[in-house]
Amino acid sequence: MQQDLAIVFVVIWLGLTVGSVMLFQRGSDVKRKRKLWPIYTIFTNTVIGGFIIYMQPPIVLMFSLLVLLIPVTFLTIRSTKFCDACGQVTRTPFFLKPATKCSHCQKPL
Ligand SMILES: [Zn+2]
Repeated sequence: MQQDLAIVFVVIWLGLTVGSVMLFQRGSDVKRKRKLWPIYTIFTNTVIGGFIIYMQPPIVLMFSLLVLLIPVTFLTIRSTKFCDACGQVTRTPFFLKPATKCSHCQKPL
């Protein structure tokens, strides 16, 4: 039973990774990418939260990790920009300021 759940998590994780590549790395529908990105990020981090709870770390650690996920989710959404000119995604580490120009075509974001 416990192992089954771990497999379910791995399958969800692979699905999310493939989904991310399909949705955000390909295509040039920037509007759709911008709309889906926060939903995708929140969903992904909810899955991570679920996995943390499933791993049952010590309660203080579990609580700290879950609380930490909230600002990380917000900052991840903020630090990811989609370029109007080329449709590519520009990511900066979540603890830095969001990028001001596209990392692919150098146009301002
Ligand atoms: Zn660009």
